[in-house]
Amino acid sequence: MSSIVLFGPPGAGKGTQASAIMQKTGLPQVSTGDMLRNALANQTELGLEAKEYMEAGKLVPDELIISLIHERLKEEDAIHGVLFDGFPRTISQAESLAKITTVSMVISIQVPDEKIIERIVGRRMDPETGEIYHVVFKPAPEELKSRLIQRKDDNESTVRSRLEAYHSQTAPLADYYNKLGILENIDGDQNIIEVTNSIINLLV
Ligand code: AMP
Repeated sequence: MSSIVLFGPPGAGKGTQASAIMQKTGLPQVSTGDMLRNALANQTELGLEAKEYMEAGKLVPDELIISLIHERLKEEDAIHGVLFDGFPRTISQAESLAKITTVSMVISIQVPDEKIIERIVGRRMDPETGEIYHVVFKPAPEELKSRLIQRKDDNESTVRSRLEAYHSQTAPLADYYNKLGILENIDGDQNIIEVTNSIINLLV
């Protein structure tokens, strides 16, 4: 089994690009952020434990994340590998992952910090379809606007903390994977279709 990691700061477009990669490879997406938000919505012990970290824009402790991934990889659909989105986020998570699966490629999508803040603060989601819109860059159809929601951690001060966590704890992973010879860099500061095309070219 061999997996792909989508790597990059919050708001780089990992979730959006994950759909294209899933279609191309058939690998299921494993987003630790989505799993934690579901756990929180269901008021599980894990969700409640993760809540304060997520709302403060800090990383959830490694042990919680690693056990979540351990359980997820036991599921039937993960047998041929998965597409990780938002995991690993620390060297320790990457080392734990290396013990349980082979990572064949790490796709790093990079976007400058100033762009990230405007992207995230304007982000809105349609809870019924999961579709992501942006108040300026991708406005939702008028009839859907009233039902859109904003993630609680998508406000400017939390985004700044999330970026700080990214630069101090997650960015060093680029070097870790580069040394293993599996890091691919993609410029995420171009239109979505171009980003998707660059990624698809890596997968052929
Ligand atoms: P995301 O949806 O990937 O932006 O994740 C939202 C929040 O969930 C992050 O700001 C963290 O608090 C937490 N989180 C998600 N994935 C991880 C991870 N791999 N390690 C630690 N915390 C995580």
